[in-house]
Amino acid sequence: MNKSKETVGSLGENPVQIMCQKCHQTVLSEVKYSSGLLTYLFCGGLFLCGFVLGCCLIPFCVDRLKDAKHTCPTCKTVLGVYRRL
Ligand SMILES: [Zn+2]
Repeated sequence: MNKSKETVGSLGENPVQIMCQKCHQTVLSEVKYSSGLLTYLFCGGLFLCGFVLGCCLIPFCVDRLKDAKHTCPTCKTVLGVYRRL
């Protein structure tokens, strides 16, 4: 009876088979990475540790530190976002 976390709760950083709410088809989600809170924290952390400016931009190039946004490959609807924090 309790169906609170249907889609968003099961999303990770990899593409998943998911039912698109808009086109009502089971699709393999398209994952795009965007800089999230953790990316900025990591950047700030490196900066405080005395890294030079170029080094503290590294987190922005590392997908593992970024939020993963799942979109439908057909209609481009955002199906859910996996956040690191
Ligand atoms: Zn769709």
